[in-house]
Amino acid sequence: MGKIYLIDVTNRDGVQTAKLGLSKLEKTLINIYLNEMGVFQSELGFPTTRHETLYLQANLELAEMGVLQPIRLQGWIRAIVSDVEATFKLVPGIKHLNLSISTSDQMIQGKFQGKKTRDDIINGMTQAADAARALGAETIGVNAEDASRTGLEFLIKFGLAAKEHGADRFRYCDTLGYDNPFTIYETTKALAENVGMPIEIHCHGDLGMAEANSIAGAKGIIDGGQDVYINTTINGIGERAGNADLVAVILAATKSKGFAEKYQLGASINLSKASKIAEFASYAFGVPIPINQPGVGANAFAHASGIHADGVLKDPENYELYDFKELGRGKPKFVETGREIIAGQYSGISGFRHLMGKMEVSFSSREEANEILELVRYANVESQKPLVEDELLFIAKYPKIAKKLLTLAPLE
Ligand SMILES: [Zn+2]
Repeated sequence: MGKIYLIDVTNRDGVQTAKLGLSKLEKTLINIYLNEMGVFQSELGFPTTRHETLYLQANLELAEMGVLQPIRLQGWIRAIVSDVEATFKLVPGIKHLNLSISTSDQMIQGKFQGKKTRDDIINGMTQAADAARALGAETIGVNAEDASRTGLEFLIKFGLAAKEHGADRFRYCDTLGYDNPFTIYETTKALAENVGMPIEIHCHGDLGMAEANSIAGAKGIIDGGQDVYINTTINGIGERAGNADLVAVILAATKSKGFAEKYQLGASINLSKASKIAEFASYAFGVPIPINQPGVGANAFAHASGIHADGVLKDPENYELYDFKELGRGKPKFVETGREIIAGQYSGISGFRHLMGKMEVSFSSREEANEILELVRYANVESQKPLVEDELLFIAKYPKIAKKLLTLAPLE
């Protein structure tokens, strides 16, 4: 029986969303939280984008130091040989890559305007996969962009060519959220059966079915005899109407009617980190968590009407499918209501030492405190909002890595 693994793409699809973005430190914290949660892989960014270079290198260093372990860190690039070469030039330590190219006739004609045929798409992808392997990629995922508007026959041909050239996974992208649970089940099952390799599913919410499609696609792939890798983002933040929400996908996979009896996660997930990761992403993106968000929304465990309140008080299972404590909710939160000392880009040493002292961080010397404060100032310049406790603690603990993350001078 195949298993379900999670690949979170917040640091790629989430950050490329219009009007939204994250600082490199925020992206790093997200990788750390995903790792704590037990997520298999983070699609952490864009290896050919120059302002990502130091961030990617710094996160790979954190992996080597054991901080970002066992999570896999994987870069996203176009399936073009020159992109693969640039990747290994800029981020030589990268081990995991996904190579993306459009496969639908709509996009082949609409984007390449007659300059590429279907055969060119396959040849370009296999050349890129070969180059990635030759340059040192340990795992390669091959992404079929707009797969849901691509004919099954061509998708199978594309997948088989990827497999022949040593790809480890095939990503089925429902780029426009066009699928429904019935169609994605049929297509992914046929792909798993005919291509015979693990399959990723990447679903969007344009028709409100991103999570449902992820679950149906996972079932199709496992029924077809393969492992499935569901792509998610935190709070569903992603292009347009967003991606499949990380927490909702976990809840659906583990708690929906009868599903988990047959379709299981390949690695255990620490759901108690759900609330924290959702709140951090909300703060970092500057996008409030919808009140009715599954599991982590303010109303996810709220009851007002007489019949519901009475029922839930008698037995929570009357009106709740799962307990709030499972998601890490219910702990008291410290909110300052009086005097506040905040670290910002113009902070001085006295206020900073006071603030860090409250978190039980002390410095061996004034020089050390000054050095950390300087990094905190830069972090605040980049994020333009007060740093959360975990960001301050990260900078104090890994100043060299923080310095790298905060170095944003244009390269060359
Ligand atoms: Zn996407």
